[in-house]
Amino acid sequence: MPIHRIRAADARGIQKYMSSLIAAEPQPHAVLVPVPAQGHITPFLRLATLLLARRFHVTFVLTEYNARRLARSRGHEWAAAAGPSFSVETIPDGLPPPPSDKQDVTQDVPAVALSVRSTCLGPFRDLMARLGRAPDVPPVTSIVSDGGMGFTVDEDFDVPVFFFFTHSACGGWSYLHYPDLISRGYTPLKDESFLTNGYLDTPIDWIPGLENLRLRDFPTFVRTTDPDDVMLNLIVRRATVDAPRCAGLILNTFAALEGPVLAAIRSKYPNLYAIGPLPSSPVSSSLWKVEVDCLRWLDAQPDASVLHVNFGSITVVTKSQLKEFAWGLARSGHRFLWAVRPDLLRDGDAAAIVKEMAAKVGDRGAVVGWCDQQRVLAHPATAAFLSHCGWNSTLESVVEGRPVVCWPFFAEQQTNCRYLCATWRIGVEISGEVTQEEVERCVRTVMADEELKRRAAEWKEKARDATGPGGSSTTDLDRLVVSLMQTSKRSVS
Ligand code: UDP
Repeated sequence: MPIHRIRAADARGIQKYMSSLIAAEPQPHAVLVPVPAQGHITPFLRLATLLLARRFHVTFVLTEYNARRLARSRGHEWAAAAGPSFSVETIPDGLPPPPSDKQDVTQDVPAVALSVRSTCLGPFRDLMARLGRAPDVPPVTSIVSDGGMGFTVDEDFDVPVFFFFTHSACGGWSYLHYPDLISRGYTPLKDESFLTNGYLDTPIDWIPGLENLRLRDFPTFVRTTDPDDVMLNLIVRRATVDAPRCAGLILNTFAALEGPVLAAIRSKYPNLYAIGPLPSSPVSSSLWKVEVDCLRWLDAQPDASVLHVNFGSITVVTKSQLKEFAWGLARSGHRFLWAVRPDLLRDGDAAAIVKEMAAKVGDRGAVVGWCDQQRVLAHPATAAFLSHCGWNSTLESVVEGRPVVCWPFFAEQQTNCRYLCATWRIGVEISGEVTQEEVERCVRTVMADEELKRRAAEWKEKARDATGPGGSSTTDLDRLVVSLMQTSKRSVS
């Protein structure tokens, strides 16, 4: 029997089984605990939407800081659109309150990562106890925790805890090998000169499932000389203590995109669910106010003529990098829509600098503070994407079939960039220091190269197949739903 038939039959079997479970069981209740950052809250909300559609009750746990931001950007009733089975609870992140002019900025990554890991268990325990007593919600049946919120496995809450790694499989698998990189002496670096003396080009070819990687393609926290580095140690703890305690691993990716890595992860974590690309949620989780005017500007542009430029929610650039990007875009001669977050520049008004440049190129360039990126990428006027290669942005580009100019900033964005350029072959990397000449070269390439566009269109098709009827991600989602409905920790399969 052809493989696709076997898969379809399996899927039907699972669906039948699920229907019988749904009919027989009380409403399952999943508690979702994302890392407090945009790139984590968004995929968690997307997962929540899928679970709600399958009759789950979902409790969504936010930090107080981000709950306030969401109320400001989306209004206090932002969660109501998700329906009565969706409730939001908050816990403190353990950090001192931000000054009044920093209420809407991305928090420092190591500070918030360390703080939640070391202070959130108590408030989370109280929340679980409160949910256990609440008369109006069904009993909690599972926890879906971000890998970065490992306090959820510090204690036994008597329900299975699944980890949702919101990054790529290649990035996640790289993180899980940090302990090996340390024991083999690759990191911490001997001294600062190792950052520039060619050492980062050392091939790392001994990790099953990972292809074509050099040390520089590993998540950037290996680029430290400090054995006590906060991120290095948090990631080692996640790999050695937290992840082995979880009941299963969820990834926002799909088999055709990351098959060899997924097979390697599965050999260590058999309860693996690759359920991506997760579809957009009808409820927006934007921590910034979304400006929609840019969609009207796009409506007025010719088809496939615009480069979208967006560095996500965390990236911070220097004034000189910003100017090189701006002049590189100007020199490219192409139309562009650039999302310039208010805190893109650590000190200074990035939008003012970019707008000044955009004025010089007339209506060929548009600048926005924060847009609905997925809709921008989906717009027929958009041709390509200049991105920092955050995993959500990368996947959104794959889903919309857009080739990428890659400028990875930090974390596993370097790994994603390597896969975009060398494995999936839909990316062109801005190499070395940003210069306007290099930006111009990459933009011109990505806007003109028919092979890049053809491959991007193929990946778009494969992403659609994965999430369609009988697709690999659909089947994994069905399996995940069954696992999340099994209340006993021992019965997870
Ligand atoms: N995003 C958006 N509008 C913007 C910038 C970003 O909607 O102007 C969204 C983007 O679509 C993605 C998320 O914010 O879903 C950013 O996540 P990603 O993993 O790409 O990067 P991070 O922000 O974590 O660095």
